[in-house]
Amino acid sequence: MKYANIIVNISHENLDKTFQYLIPEKLRGTISVGDYVTIPFGRGNRLIEGYVLELSDKAACDETRLKEIAGIKTDARLVEVKLIKLAWWMKKTYGSTMINALKTVLPIKKQIKEKEEKTIILKLGREEALSRLELYMKKHQTARERLLRELIREGELNYRLVTAKLSISPPTIKAMEDQEVISVLRKRLYRDPAQGDADGMQVMLNPAQKSIVREIVREYDEGIRGTYLLRGITGSGKTEVYMEIISHVIEAGLKVIVLIPEISLTYQTVMRFYKRFGSKVSTIHSRLSDGVKYDQFERARKGEISVMIGPRSALFTPFEDLGLIIMDEEHEPSYKSDNMPKYHARETAVELARLHNASLILGSATPSLDAYYKALKGEYRLFELTERAKDASLPRVHITDLKQELKEGNKSMFGRELKSLMEEKLSKGEQIMLFLNRRGYAGFVSCRSCGHVIKCPHCDVSLSIHGGGKLLCHYCGYERENVKICPECGSSYIGGMRAGTEQVEENVKKLFPYASVLRMDADTTKKKDDYERILSSFANRDADILIGTQMIVKGHDFPYVTLMGILVADMSLNAGDYRASERTFQLLTQAAGRSGRADIAGDVVIQTYRPDHYAIVHARDQDYISFYNEEITYRTLLDYPPVGHMMAVMVEGADDRKVDAYSALLAEKLKNDIIMNLHGDGCRIIGPADAFVRKINDIYRKLIYLKSADLNVLIDLKDRAEETVNACKDKGIRVTFDLDPV
Ligand code: ADP
Ligand code: ZN
Ligand code: ZN
Repeated sequence: MKYANIIVNISHENLDKTFQYLIPEKLRGTISVGDYVTIPFGRGNRLIEGYVLELSDKAACDETRLKEIAGIKTDARLVEVKLIKLAWWMKKTYGSTMINALKTVLPIKKQIKEKEEKTIILKLGREEALSRLELYMKKHQTARERLLRELIREGELNYRLVTAKLSISPPTIKAMEDQEVISVLRKRLYRDPAQGDADGMQVMLNPAQKSIVREIVREYDEGIRGTYLLRGITGSGKTEVYMEIISHVIEAGLKVIVLIPEISLTYQTVMRFYKRFGSKVSTIHSRLSDGVKYDQFERARKGEISVMIGPRSALFTPFEDLGLIIMDEEHEPSYKSDNMPKYHARETAVELARLHNASLILGSATPSLDAYYKALKGEYRLFELTERAKDASLPRVHITDLKQELKEGNKSMFGRELKSLMEEKLSKGEQIMLFLNRRGYAGFVSCRSCGHVIKCPHCDVSLSIHGGGKLLCHYCGYERENVKICPECGSSYIGGMRAGTEQVEENVKKLFPYASVLRMDADTTKKKDDYERILSSFANRDADILIGTQMIVKGHDFPYVTLMGILVADMSLNAGDYRASERTFQLLTQAAGRSGRADIAGDVVIQTYRPDHYAIVHARDQDYISFYNEEITYRTLLDYPPVGHMMAVMVEGADDRKVDAYSALLAEKLKNDIIMNLHGDGCRIIGPADAFVRKINDIYRKLIYLKSADLNVLIDLKDRAEETVNACKDKGIRVTFDLDPV
């Protein structure tokens, strides 16, 4: 590479304003993307600094007109250097333009005045506060009750957290201020954690937690930076382990990023971190405006905070001295980005940790196959917590065979066991959650008599019903006529499953007209605060039953929920992709954890046509290891990730003939590359085939899948495909890449 594109003033607005320089002989091979270099600039050739954004072997203009780079600043410890290097790694690994990768990692600069933080404090003494609380309860002023309850516990609360996470409106706060129950302070005022905890005590870690902390801290102090996987059942005290290690790292003067899936970023979780680390903590989430997000990132850059908590984009917090990254619930699909570059936060965190020489802790009750596989191979160090930290009874899990229900004449969506448990809980005034698992639901065909599912003979995933009544494979495009008679048992009760949350709601209302019902799905959560509003309303016991999609499975604790009904577990089991069983196992295990608390044991009913499926059996037994062993066998047999790797290449465009022609051309080219480069037997190309949703907003979509045991082979093929794509002058065609799609 002889040329370098250099940016002088790095920010979103300037990303396309790069200047090309010649790399002097003596620096060739040593310079890399991200380096901070000095260059002669302008007429007077004044020496200024800039970052290398790209290297190239083609000159953008006549070479003799290019100036030479003067030198590399090797002592630069700038955050930007690491972020640019990270962007480069993301571009190389996941495929995208450098500009898109940079836009992903750089904060959007918005010049707004830093907003002052407001704090709510309790004005009443404890006795007075408690009698006021009773009054609120009597008057059914649930919002006031909630706020007061929290304040009695905490003494003071961050205003933004109260409005955003407790869903308490400013007028309510104002009203309580007028009643002189609370006051709102306009300056920053956090409790200093060093002054001790108002709750009186911090938990004492139990021996299992202690030994994990001790090991990781010991390695840390010896300068060993590792990647750790902490598998611990829900409630086993993982968060306490994280916090103990975090406090060690920040005492050493280093910074910490804590990743939490957006949906679990609840008031309760965030509050625990604030309680422990006070004003050293900041959080971001996707609903913050760019301006507020930018401010939080600026505080991080200036060293005002030590811990940033947030969803996957929190990875790009510009900490100068990052010492530790925590990734909780590492199995969550939301850690994968939908936009180019389609990065996965787990691998990106590994790379970021490498760039900073930081440690990385992954945590989950049900680790992704990917993480557990790597842990068993020794790439990650594995720790386990197998018991709940506080005594809590595990729920009773019942499985209902829907085939049997049908045989015995029950055609309703509620099996007899679920129905009678619902009656029982309602009569006791306890709460119920009904979960319709529609993740990735793509209309598979199954037999209600014998449970048989129509699958692709080549890919071993469920076929999906497609327009025109055909059945189609997501991966290879295999197509066949729909069936009217079950090929397995001859029954005519075969077809698609068409239950939606609305239908469930109607049925519940018919069966239990006296129960009050809340529904949470994409339709009822269109507005910004709908999600929190429904959850807090349910937490306030405004309703007996909450019906919802996977949104309801995570996040909040509902102490009065004693029954979780999973209506048709098969919906995610037959989602038509290779992760269907894994997702189902994770969701069912998680859903089971929602029911019952310390003092009341809960019930969980899993309704399914395939009660013998290993994902369901092992979820019932909460047996991760057995599930892993069966699932990894399936992945190995079919070369699916994490054993092999896959790359989805999507070709999109408004003109379907062009999309057809171009995807065929690209597939042909890739086939040649595979043969020419002797990537050998290990590498396969599948497609092009129609994407599952063939047309979205009048844009046609075709998919090509590449499979290989070797990740680097896929990355190499992607690079070659990108070259072809970049050479394609047709603006009507767009090509995107997705490595190991989730
Ligand atoms: P996880 O993150 O694994 O779900 P948490 O850290 O949230 O688990 O712990 C679950 C509950 O148990 C929390 O209320 C926490 O405060 C409590 N807890 C955790 N560790 C201990 C401990 N050693 N002693 C007492 N309570 C604990
Ligand atoms: Zn059948
Ligand atoms: Zn197939």
